[in-house]
Amino acid sequence: MELEPVIGLEIHAQLSTKSKLWCGCDNDAFGAEPNSRVCPVCMGFPGMLPVLNKSALEKGLKGAASLGCKIQPFSKFDRKNYFYPDLPNGFQISQYDQPIALKGKVEIEVAGKKKMIGITRVHLENDAGKLTHTKSGTLCDYNRSGTPLIEIVTEPDLRSPEEAKVFAQEIQKILRFVGASSADMEKGMMRFDASISIRPQGKDKLNPRAEIKNLNSFVSLFKALNYEFKRQKKLWEQKKPLEGEVTMGWLDDEEKTVLLRDKESAHDYRYFPEPDLPPVTISEEEIKEIEESIPELPLSKLHRYKKELGLTEAEALKLAEDPRLSEFFEKSAELSKKPKKAANLILSVILADSAWYQTLVTPEHVADVLLLIEKGAVSSTGGKEILSASMDKGKSAKDLMKELGVEQMSDVGELENLVKEVIDGNPDSVTAYKNGKDNALQFLMGQVMKASGGSANPPLVLEMLKKELS
Ligand SMILES: [Zn+2]
Repeated sequence: MELEPVIGLEIHAQLSTKSKLWCGCDNDAFGAEPNSRVCPVCMGFPGMLPVLNKSALEKGLKGAASLGCKIQPFSKFDRKNYFYPDLPNGFQISQYDQPIALKGKVEIEVAGKKKMIGITRVHLENDAGKLTHTKSGTLCDYNRSGTPLIEIVTEPDLRSPEEAKVFAQEIQKILRFVGASSADMEKGMMRFDASISIRPQGKDKLNPRAEIKNLNSFVSLFKALNYEFKRQKKLWEQKKPLEGEVTMGWLDDEEKTVLLRDKESAHDYRYFPEPDLPPVTISEEEIKEIEESIPELPLSKLHRYKKELGLTEAEALKLAEDPRLSEFFEKSAELSKKPKKAANLILSVILADSAWYQTLVTPEHVADVLLLIEKGAVSSTGGKEILSASMDKGKSAKDLMKELGVEQMSDVGELENLVKEVIDGNPDSVTAYKNGKDNALQFLMGQVMKASGGSANPPLVLEMLKKELS
């Protein structure tokens, strides 16, 4: 009997807003001095009132819509009560039974197979502060307290640790693409709780699960699920399967899960409606507007670039993951009508500078350079030099061609004269070529290139030499 894992994820992503969710404090506290981005609201002082940050709501809705979720015309906030030193209010403001969005779907592709993963819900909530445990005690930093988060809850549709990892990476790409979150794992902007249970393959019943809390990298997500799957399999085989829900932690250094609490000690959050915040209502028009603002997403672009534009997987992957880059590429491909060649130039020349979007290069430069190469006015090396220079200088490709001196002599009349002169001046080589010595042709070609000062178009010279000598 083959056992399969049944996995669901809860993903917390920090929304990329200027200020926090309920107050005007700076939301970008990375690297800031502890407790320097705080005010009475996010420090949970008595009597302080939260005010919903409109931009956080908008980004949350956009994130939810990009995961195919239905935005709810009515949603409300609830208090989730628990005591912890990093939570100064003694409660977190979250959404319980009426979140901002429900029922989405995200496509993933694992080992060439496409699969849809259901999204149960997306809700808005604030983050807690951060504790640092030292030998002399625990330090509290409330800079992160009140940071806006969306929590994305999936259906238990994932069937392997690999699928879970690919799915989490896809969510990161999508949230970045629509600008909802920078989802930077190193800065803790995206974190996962993963639930896993097992069952015999082909059965529908869901068994008690283990929830692994606070995984903060794709690698630990994968490893923790892998470890927990093996652990549960062993228990199953010993006829001691999980009997109730358990909450686990993941020890990165030891690469194992540990029990944090079982069902008996589970939290009772005593949710109740947040009395200090009005419900959120969104009109049908606003919902439509948000849905229509969602661009084509990375995975769809990836398929299209491969199928319709003939790019390789690696090229398409790179060009589809960033909205600025994919827009630049699509414009270049459209102007030049040469998507494959445009992709090549962009990847080899423009992306050499990671801040390329701050340079002066435009899609017109790419298209013009491709045209110059096609006409034989410059070699492909010369074309790359022009494109590279356009990033700093922003001048037209033609002007740069002259400035850099990379123009190839393609004037047929002028070249013909050079070819004739070389043939007349090297009778021995001509005879050798006619006697079947191919390297004589290389020599003659070298002479023409030399006479042109290196500016002749080599394929054109070769063609003319062959014609003259035949
Ligand atoms: Zn504040």
